[in-house]
Amino acid sequence: TNSQRLLVVANRLPVSATRKGDASWQLEMSVGGLVSALLGITEFETRWIGWAGVNVTDEIGKKSLTKALADKRCVPVFLDEDLVNLYYNGYCNNILWPLFHYLGLPQEDRLATTRSFQSQFDAYKKANQLFADVVSEHYIEGDVIWCHDYHLMFLPKYLKERNNKMKVGWFLHTPFPSSEIQRTLPSQSELLRAVLVADLVGFHTYDYARHFVSACTRILGLEGTPDGVEDQGKLTRVAAFPIGIDPGRFIRAIQLPQIKEHIKELEERFAGRKVMLGVDRLDMIKGIPQKILAFEKFLEENPDWHDKVVLLQIAVPTRTDVPEYQKLTCQVHEIVGRINGRFGSLTTVPIHHLDRSLDFHGLCALYAITDVALITSLRDGMNLVSYEFVACQASKKGVLILSEFAGAAQSLGAGAILVNPWNITEVASSIGYALNMPAEEREKRHHHNFVHVTSHTSQEWAETFVSELNDTIVEAQLRI
Ligand code: UDP
Repeated sequence: TNSQRLLVVANRLPVSATRKGDASWQLEMSVGGLVSALLGITEFETRWIGWAGVNVTDEIGKKSLTKALADKRCVPVFLDEDLVNLYYNGYCNNILWPLFHYLGLPQEDRLATTRSFQSQFDAYKKANQLFADVVSEHYIEGDVIWCHDYHLMFLPKYLKERNNKMKVGWFLHTPFPSSEIQRTLPSQSELLRAVLVADLVGFHTYDYARHFVSACTRILGLEGTPDGVEDQGKLTRVAAFPIGIDPGRFIRAIQLPQIKEHIKELEERFAGRKVMLGVDRLDMIKGIPQKILAFEKFLEENPDWHDKVVLLQIAVPTRTDVPEYQKLTCQVHEIVGRINGRFGSLTTVPIHHLDRSLDFHGLCALYAITDVALITSLRDGMNLVSYEFVACQASKKGVLILSEFAGAAQSLGAGAILVNPWNITEVASSIGYALNMPAEEREKRHHHNFVHVTSHTSQEWAETFVSELNDTIVEAQLRI
């Protein structure tokens, strides 16, 4: 075909690989937001470059995995265990992730992180070089290269150093914090400069884009313009591209006979009670303890509701080997236990808390039967769960209570009830408001959200980013 090639570079490939023998692999495609966004783009020939999530040390293994992945249009970057530990667990997840979400490190980790900072930063750069090696090997003139997320902030620089003609875009899937936070990071100038080498830099919201531009003006002393950041006549375009979901996938799913059956079962199971739902990875940024405390306050203040409402909290385990996350799990279990002990009866409990993930169909059924979704992220790049809930609510028209600190608050603000998750008094009264909301108001609010979710799809998001990247390069050539 003559279509333009798109190289999507992300830390993780959209497949998980399990080794079955010397040269045999079992591959499973994972369908995250990014994957479904890009599956829908037909005008490009897309290839994925990233780490397969497995440690492969032998040549036979590397060759056979590369061959197996090629069928899925995936190209592996091999990272050894030590590098993964310093680059991925260290710099990416212990330093950048908390910083970008305005989370402080626990006191005991703070000095240890300060001491190991340099080795982690070096590993981060080394890993980015390895990604750049693989991209360069596969690059053909005219290709568009789209780098994703905080794992790959040096990639634009390393790519352009190899070949200045490459068209390079970078997109951040997390929040970008205020420059006052960014300033505390020892390597901040180098990191910002490396990103600025890209032709186009994208964020989920205008706020994040604005924070990035002001970090560049305050920390690097560069000039911010309405279009981006300018350095000695070279413009790096900076803009907001709010991601969406593939709404059709959800809308179709809840119409499948087996899901309808499952929905009916769940409705019978919870008959006579309103269902509230939380779906989060068990991460500090999701504000799960805050959510549950607010629900407790609601129960405290509204005895009439005790046996008429249930909160289903799906808490997907994540980074379970990290002590801080283990602590959070214990904390949540303790609060849930206390509340169930306090407000439960012999036959019912107010909170069903699950430490596991659900499959796609199970999740869709839950979204569909929910009366009130409760999302209390303390910070969240976008939060796709809120979009998925809305997509599944065409018949129920339930209420979305959404943290003002989720990127989605910028797009679903008109239909959702926005709350500050730190203010449990406000969240508790919003729960009451949502549970008592008249049908007419629910329908109106749902309609706002539904129109947004179904018209701002992931596919449109990806197409907009790539065409903006192409345009930016054409404009830059006209400026010379
Ligand atoms: N998800 C899932 N199974 C579950 C719970 C969640 O597949 O049991 C998916 C959910 O459908 C959503 C994603 O996980 O697409 C979570 O994305 P979000 O942007 O809300 O948060 P993140 O986890 O990326 O911080």
